[in-house]
Amino acid sequence: MIQKKQIKRDQETNKKTNLLRIIPLGGQEEVGRNMTVFEYHKDIIILDMGVQFPEEDMPGIDYIIPNICYLKGKEKNIRAVIFSHGHLDHIGAAPILLEQLGYPPVVGRPLTLALLKNRLEDHKKGSAKQLRSIIIRNITDRIRLGKFLTKFFPVDHSIMDAIGIIIETPHATVLHPGDWTYEEDPVSHRKVQYHQLAKLKRPTILMLESLGATNTNKRVPERVMYNNLQRLISQAPGRIIIGTFSSQIERIKQILEFAEKIGKKVALDGYSMKMNIEVAKQLGYIKVKKETLIPIDKIHRYPDKQIIVICTGAQGEGNAVLSRIVNGQHRFVQIKKSDTIVFSSSIIPGNERTIQRLKDNLYRLSDNVVHSDIMDIHSSGHGTAEDIATVLKQVKPDYFLPVYANHYFLKEAEKLAIREGFRKENIFILDNGSVLEFDHGRPHLTNQKVPTSYVMVDGLGVGDISHVVLRDRQMLAEDGMFVVIVKIDAETGKLINSPDIISRGFIYMKENKKLLDQTRDKVKKILKDRDPRTSADETFIKNKIRDVIGSFLFSKTERRPMVLPVIIEV
Ligand SMILES: [Zn+2]
Repeated sequence: MIQKKQIKRDQETNKKTNLLRIIPLGGQEEVGRNMTVFEYHKDIIILDMGVQFPEEDMPGIDYIIPNICYLKGKEKNIRAVIFSHGHLDHIGAAPILLEQLGYPPVVGRPLTLALLKNRLEDHKKGSAKQLRSIIIRNITDRIRLGKFLTKFFPVDHSIMDAIGIIIETPHATVLHPGDWTYEEDPVSHRKVQYHQLAKLKRPTILMLESLGATNTNKRVPERVMYNNLQRLISQAPGRIIIGTFSSQIERIKQILEFAEKIGKKVALDGYSMKMNIEVAKQLGYIKVKKETLIPIDKIHRYPDKQIIVICTGAQGEGNAVLSRIVNGQHRFVQIKKSDTIVFSSSIIPGNERTIQRLKDNLYRLSDNVVHSDIMDIHSSGHGTAEDIATVLKQVKPDYFLPVYANHYFLKEAEKLAIREGFRKENIFILDNGSVLEFDHGRPHLTNQKVPTSYVMVDGLGVGDISHVVLRDRQMLAEDGMFVVIVKIDAETGKLINSPDIISRGFIYMKENKKLLDQTRDKVKKILKDRDPRTSADETFIKNKIRDVIGSFLFSKTERRPMVLPVIIEV
């Protein structure tokens, strides 16, 4: 009897564990921090480990990485981490997370893994030695990872070696193209289509990056963009300076190869850009003669007409090369009126103002500034609304999960799919930490939510910045600080001398003598009014000063500086 019960219980737990669980740890409510966990019984595979760049309200934070609390204690179950391509929002968090997870095997195409290796070495010298790499040499490779069988398919994206992933499980087949776009007439390879994915073992779940769900513009075909760029390059009256992203490796390759064809020299500037191109060159993905690429400090040795500078900073980032050039702080490049300046990338939301300022400054310095608003010199690496519809039609998935974008893009992708004839109940919009379970029936969204709170990286510190610290930084940045130094007699608890006040970023002290005098009086009163029967309780006095002085300063100035009481007992 007991045995029977035991067997029944085992069967029940088996029934519960033998299902596919899809858990996004990031990338469902933002652009970046992409990371998805696939779990089947005791097998886990992970897709991507990306960073998210900080928002404006996170001063001093370098980047944010996915929260891996859910994987704590399950490290031994992780069969592999697959990387869809080498962009930082897909590999950027790997140096920290792989270490925390005890370096599970990593799977990817050659360029992806080479960029990953570089990223690890940049983070910690020698750490790349820990990598256990499974290189996808051929797109037709299949890799068995526990209960999962993984296969791959090519996708169009702005970096070479971007792949889509097919995950076969006993219950369903998951299709995930990573980042993708749909190029009608690609320049460097055959047209990529997705009809073959409709023939996979059903049911199929399509997890589709939907960043372009609201983009109803016709995408600029690659060929048009390259023709425009090539015309600009060959007709430029003087030097040509191109500001772009270091992640646009495919585009930089095209420019390099064209430059070589027409006998121009190219100087690259920007650490990440030089590194990316070097890695791609070493793997043979970019084939240019040694003499085509010249160091930036040698450009003056050639006639202006022969020079192309490709640099980072098209978003106006403060420290990037293009900003330094514009501000006259670049050691080797000063802008001349005859230079042609090209912005070859789209604007990341939130950077509009900075880019506008950069544009204005460039127009003051050069007569030939070209950007995407006036000429098609940029082609997005992400599919548009029309492209999403095309892929849905080609793949014909049983279930649709829009992924890798802010919530509203996911919702728009859902609407789009419904317009294309998809049934609403077969579409699932997951948040970070949602758990989608899939057994032999329909997938269903559980009530469970795994932890996904921000893990912020600040310099070399990982996750040691809390929201309290962040709030402090915001306060300091907005309203400055106000330090009140109080000396008290250790025995009597009485104030010695008048309190000292230091303020930064709040008021100009010399012009606010009256306010400071009033503040000193308030502090004196706090100490005098204290119950004489209690000893000098430092925390109490500090809190009182913080509260009273804080609201007093607010009533006078309508600003809330950070009030820092310092008590010195003598
Ligand atoms: Zn990408």
